[in-house]
Amino acid sequence: MRQNLVAGNWKMNLTYPEALALVEEIARLAGYGSVGANGLQVVVCPPFPLLHGVGQALPQGGNFHLGAQNCHQKESGAFTGEVSAKLLASVGCEYVILGHSERRQYFGETDELLSQKLKAALAAGLKPIFCVGESLDTREADETFDFIGKQLTDGLFHLSNEEFAQVTIAYEPIWAIGTGRTATSAQAQEVHAFIRERIARAYDAQAALDTTILYGGSANAQNARELFAQPDVDGGLIGGASLKAADFTAIIQSF
Ligand code: 13P
Repeated sequence: MRQNLVAGNWKMNLTYPEALALVEEIARLAGYGSVGANGLQVVVCPPFPLLHGVGQALPQGGNFHLGAQNCHQKESGAFTGEVSAKLLASVGCEYVILGHSERRQYFGETDELLSQKLKAALAAGLKPIFCVGESLDTREADETFDFIGKQLTDGLFHLSNEEFAQVTIAYEPIWAIGTGRTATSAQAQEVHAFIRERIARAYDAQAALDTTILYGGSANAQNARELFAQPDVDGGLIGGASLKAADFTAIIQSF
């Protein structure tokens, strides 16, 4: 179901005590009552070792949810150092980010592998947040739509209608991640509308309307309101600004 959603991707940041302090401060500043008032869902995605503790510390029974940043494609077995979707679900995760550009770039994750991870996540009952986004070279070569269209077709659109209904999409232009160079609200809207149009083609018009599509890439307390006001932008996937309670709270209050 389409919903307003803000997810914090903590990446490889924060120790356990720092994480608990951050969650406590966000809960104090935001409170789940006010967060829930406009139906907004908030997801925090800590590194693996912090998941269980952060999940326990989040305000319970409200609109705060726990997410992971990755999972392995197999359910269990001899895969030293890896974490399965089933394990994530067992510590209270509801969401999992898949296909982040850092995973694609630094860990060689391909659309084929991501297809398998999506299936594994869905089988474990997790809701994937599937990331797409072009590099600066691709944008400057005017190939953004072809590139994202291929990421969607090869990575995502193999899912059944029922499976696809569980997926949130995040548009994260690589050139905007961690650079302070946000996509303009018009650039974000243009790509979000394109993604929705591709969903309509691959599935149907209702599926396109029902899909939550987030923007990510140097989103912050200053630009969130304008980004979230775009008709096809349903929220954000926030990196750096999700590590500061005041900034993250301001972002989730930007709807
Ligand atoms: P920044 O908000 O730090 O640019 O990171 C965005 C991101 O990659 C979220 O997944």
